[in-house]
Amino acid sequence: MSSTNRNAEPSRMGSANAGSTRPSVAPIFQSAAFDVEDLNQLEDIAVGRTPGYIYTRDNNPNHVALADAMACLENAEAGAVFSSGMAAIASVFQTLGNNRGHVIMSRALYGRTIQLAERMQQQFGLNFTLVDQTVPSEFAAARTDQTCFALVETISNPLLEICDLDAVTAALGDVPLVVDATFTTPILIKCHDHGAAIVVHSASKYLNGHGDVMLGVASGSAEMMNQLRVTASIFGANANPFESWLCQRGLRTLPLRMKQVCATTRAIAERLVGHPAVGRVHYPLLNDHKSYELATSLYPNGTGGIISFELNGNGAEIVNRFMLASDTIPFSPSLADARTTISYPAGTSHRFLSENARRELGITNELVRLSVGLEPAELLIGELCQTLDTLL
Ligand SMILES: *Cc1c(COP(=O)(O)O)cnc(C)c1O
Repeated sequence: MSSTNRNAEPSRMGSANAGSTRPSVAPIFQSAAFDVEDLNQLEDIAVGRTPGYIYTRDNNPNHVALADAMACLENAEAGAVFSSGMAAIASVFQTLGNNRGHVIMSRALYGRTIQLAERMQQQFGLNFTLVDQTVPSEFAAARTDQTCFALVETISNPLLEICDLDAVTAALGDVPLVVDATFTTPILIKCHDHGAAIVVHSASKYLNGHGDVMLGVASGSAEMMNQLRVTASIFGANANPFESWLCQRGLRTLPLRMKQVCATTRAIAERLVGHPAVGRVHYPLLNDHKSYELATSLYPNGTGGIISFELNGNGAEIVNRFMLASDTIPFSPSLADARTTISYPAGTSHRFLSENARRELGITNELVRLSVGLEPAELLIGELCQTLDTLL
């Protein structure tokens, strides 16, 4: 076999360029490493004198494109991307936390976030105090000299209790506030404008919006984002270029999607109230909700696509009947897909709590949660009412 044509060596194939034109959409830089010319260029890139990349675990053009887009949407100096929402939150703990340090956390945080704090406590001696995120004075009372940061969610799952970010920031003084804004996105609230030092999102949800990506993002000062990126690189929590690219594509329709989801959710909430198969409806823009006043002032454009409600009847039995009767809207444990999904908090996000602990939080065995998607409101309302009618 002749091997005179060196270009025929398969291990060297794979570069491409667009000639004198530029692609209209940024390419995917699906490359683990970037070739450098010489030691001078390596040094310039390593210290940040010249823009460029060396290794995708540290940085990649698709990370930067998404991070910059998020910084812009959030009114922040800089952004950072991670392999998942949990990787973003874990990087915050690993960057701001220390042994003997202390964290103030909402007791209504995403279940895995509470588990992360428990892990950090058991393995690394980081302490935490759980507070009610709707009572700012609890943050002031929980503060100690060791407090490294506080962590809340804009709107809690599944009862949708809203955090008054301005009041909590004031109560915390110089303790940085970290906000998980997954449920609301920067379209509905820009948390840095309300005092947040760091905003994190599970981009697996609305930011990407199509149910096909796992990704996390953060925004804040350039100095803080740099620290988070270093942490992510050390722990290998880096995002993948293709998923960063997909999420950036998702961002282009985020304002439209959030507008539609907010309008549909409000229409569904108003329709569910008074349906004979439905008990309590939890939705912040209904005036019997505990956060109604705050919702109308902080979220004039809507509170997003999550709504939960109780079925009249007995827990497992009535929920099973509802699941079996719902043949168009699937039960699925995630949220913020393009399609509407139903979830059962007592059996998924809150299954590790005792029934009493759940009841104290207000999460009954009859509570179901809806994540409203992009279907037309009338279609969804028709399907939901038809399903609910079968329970009567
Ligand atoms: C889903 C979710 C997370 C975790 O994000 P992943 O991308 O699944 O790791 C964190 N916080 C909230 C509020 C979430 O809904």
